[in-house]
Order: sequence, then C-alpha cells, then structure tokens
Amino acid sequence: MLHPTVIAIPIFAALIAAEAFFAARRRDPEYNDSKDTWTNIFLGFMSVVWGAIFGIFTYYIYDLCYSLAPFKFPADAWWTWAVLFFVDDLAYYVFHRASHEIRLFWNFHVVHHSSEHYNLSVAVRQSWFSGLLHWIFYAPVMLLGFAPWMFALMHGFNLIYQFWIHTKFVRRLGPLEWILNTPSHHRVHHGVNEEYLDKNYAGVLIIWDRLFGSFVPETEEPRYGIIKPIKSYNPLWINTHAWFEMFAAIRSNRGFRAKLRSIFGSPNLETTN
Ligand SMILES: [Zn+2]
Ligand SMILES: [Zn+2]
Repeated sequence: MLHPTVIAIPIFAALIAAEAFFAARRRDPEYNDSKDTWTNIFLGFMSVVWGAIFGIFTYYIYDLCYSLAPFKFPADAWWTWAVLFFVDDLAYYVFHRASHEIRLFWNFHVVHHSSEHYNLSVAVRQSWFSGLLHWIFYAPVMLLGFAPWMFALMHGFNLIYQFWIHTKFVRRLGPLEWILNTPSHHRVHHGVNEEYLDKNYAGVLIIWDRLFGSFVPETEEPRYGIIKPIKSYNPLWINTHAWFEMFAAIRSNRGFRAKLRSIFGSPNLETTN
C-alpha cells in the first residue's frame, strides 16, 4: 500500500509552486531565499526515502504490538475511525511535545524548525532519521487495538493536513481557530519569540494545546527559526548538527545527573547559556 503522503507529493509540489509565484509577485521575504526553499524540498524527498527504509522495521514493531492487543477495533465500523482520529491526533501531540521538550527527540525534529522562513516548502522540511525512534510514541496506538494499516492511513491524513498550515497567506479563520490547528496557530509554533517557545504542538486539533496548557494565540509577528541559527544549507549537517552539540554537552557537563539532563532535559537549557 502506498502511503497517503506519497500520493500527496504532486499536490504539495503544485501548491508550493503557486505560493512561490504569488510571493514573488508581492516580493514576500519568506520566498527570497531560493536556496532555503530547494533545501526544504530536497530534505522532504529524502525523508520519504529514509522513512520507507525505517518503515520496514517499524512495521514489525507495530505488527507485534497489534498481536498483543487484547481488544481489536473492527475496521468496518465508522466509530472505529472516529476514535482512531482522536487517538492518533493525541499521539501526535505527545510525540511533538516530546520532540521539543526532550533534547534526544529534538535532535531529529530540529530539522523542521531550522529554516528561518515560513512558507509551504517548510512543511516538507523533515528529518531523515526520525523513523529510528518515533515509533515509541505510536506503538501504543497498536496496543490499543488499531491495525497498523489503519494507523498508517489515519496518520498519513494527519500529516497531509499539516501541510497547508505552513503559510503566511492565510491570516485568521474565525471560529475554526477554536478547534483546528490553523496557519496562525502554527506560525506561533515556529516562532522563537520568548512567549512563543514550546507552544502549539497540535497536529489537526488545537484542543489538545488548550487542554494541556500549551496554547498561545498569535499576537505579534513571529521570528522564525531556532534559538541558535544553523546558517547552513548542507542537508547532512542539518540532519546531524544537533547530535554533535548534544555529545559535546554530555562531555562538558560534570556529574551523572547533568549528563543525563543533556540527553533528556529541554534543548532550550543548553542553547541559552
Ligand atoms: Zn515542532
Ligand atoms: Zn511546522
């Protein structure tokens, strides 16, 4: 079965091209760095290739978890898909929050945030190696009794949804802002303004952020990127620099607890001092 995100590639490409065209007409600074845009696109393509490689072994883990599930949700019941939608979106929230608040996971996710621009091409700027560990957050979905193929389908649609919110062209969407993750909410997520750090982790539903206290509305114009700008277009360096920084921090921190903190603590602690 082809993953839904792979089928969406031509649509993503067309929308990026359309946004770039209109941005050029109004001289939008978010598209004035074509090297950044092409880096994003290349990172996106290769993340699909790496994702397929890691997908082989994550499939076995998910299959094993599903075989251990005491209850199996019937695939032909509509309510199964309704429950799965919420379960998957909550699992994404937990995965995404951990990817920001635990340095080990940030080492992967930093790839998505290290562009200093905000446009649709940033949506496909994804880590190559996150498949090594991200299954930790999704394996429980299979233990709950959802078949791996059902999860893959629902999760694919969740990721496709997240594409269109990476734009400055859409400002506010009225009452939809209460329930859905929108361009406005996700711009906050990509901001390094002090009050925007570690906020708005949502996938599709912003309700999780509102429930768990991580929601902040867009009040001022976000500054995009990461605290310590990477200043590189090298795809391999973009995917690995955070690991080198983490190992340097482990080495320089004295004491076992401090060393553990440089792996499992917040990445912001290390970059701000
Ligand atoms: Zn993020
Ligand atoms: Zn994003």
